[in-house]
Amino acid sequence: MSKRDYYDVLGVERGADEKALKSAYRKLAMKYHPDKNPGDKKAEATFKEINEAYEVLTDPQKRKLYDQFGHAGVDPSAQAAGGGPFTGGFGGFEDFGDVFSSFFGGGFSSSSRGYSRVRRGADVQVEVRLSFMEAVQGAEKEVTFYRLEDCPTCSGSGAEPGTSMKTCEQCGGRGEVRYAQRSLFGETISVQECPTCRGKGEIPETICHTCKGKGKVRKRKKLSVKIPAGVDNGHILTLSGEGDVGESGGPKGDVLLHFRVAPDSLFRREGSDIYQEVHINYIQAVLGDEIEIPSLEGKLRFKISPGTQSGEIRRLAGAGIQRVNSYGKGDHYVTIIVDVPTSLNDKQKEALLHFGKEMNLVTPKENKSFFEKVKDAIGNN
Ligand SMILES: [Zn+2]
Ligand SMILES: [Zn+2]
Repeated sequence: MSKRDYYDVLGVERGADEKALKSAYRKLAMKYHPDKNPGDKKAEATFKEINEAYEVLTDPQKRKLYDQFGHAGVDPSAQAAGGGPFTGGFGGFEDFGDVFSSFFGGGFSSSSRGYSRVRRGADVQVEVRLSFMEAVQGAEKEVTFYRLEDCPTCSGSGAEPGTSMKTCEQCGGRGEVRYAQRSLFGETISVQECPTCRGKGEIPETICHTCKGKGKVRKRKKLSVKIPAGVDNGHILTLSGEGDVGESGGPKGDVLLHFRVAPDSLFRREGSDIYQEVHINYIQAVLGDEIEIPSLEGKLRFKISPGTQSGEIRRLAGAGIQRVNSYGKGDHYVTIIVDVPTSLNDKQKEALLHFGKEMNLVTPKENKSFFEKVKDAIGNN
């Protein structure tokens, strides 16, 4: 099977920097996340592909190899030697949090300095749904998510309490293993975290029954979060240090709240501005009026000036939504629509006709034919 180019997979330029990679990866990872596509094998394959591309391109060494040699330079199948009870992280692909932890977590795969055993925990992505007004006014929300925490039974060691650790046989306690990779261009040596002990250099004699030796368990966590006024679709709020626990005392990951805001029946939102249509009748348009319209702050007196045209847009400066990342508020735009009556009785038609004559809007010829129509209409009744 031919593999897709990693840059194509993420949809980024060849020169893309880490920020661009991260942003492209996050977008795709959210979309193809197994959580969002249960049972969809194709999405799962794409998700794996995205993760693989991200892993390689954010590792300066691997990226260099990839740029030089293509897939042959970084082929993971060439590194998958060995194996042991801890291979594959936290129990395979279903446990997607680990996929995130490998690639978001600043672990060995994204460090060029070598294979530190201390590793930052993974970021946890959480979608938060808000009503239109919750997003406008801000809200206090309970968010629930799952995160990895140290196993309460073994305190993270992975060993059954009362048993001891032994030196890892695969790496001889070094925590890393070397692989020779052959490609068309010669041999490269790559140093990898030992898959058996996952870089720790030692493994438990008897693995902990609670976490099966992983040292971590996935726990449900509930947090009350103050969401600032003005958030919108696509905004991300970071809760520092609320994500997965780190490796060997490494810092915790973050929780990233992704907002999904419901549309409103009255207002259309664009950034911090809101748009609204207000319907008035012909008489109000001609003579002017004062009406009540809904606004973000409740009912508002709104003046219709005499001679208002349909489609006129009025701007209520500063009556929009709080700007999240700067000061002040957006504007409230009101589009005035003059409703044309769709059904008139004969008396109304006649009154309108007199008005039309008064305004010189009805020529005698039209006048006559119109009167005839009216007569016909009456006659038919
Ligand atoms: Zn345990
Ligand atoms: Zn080892």
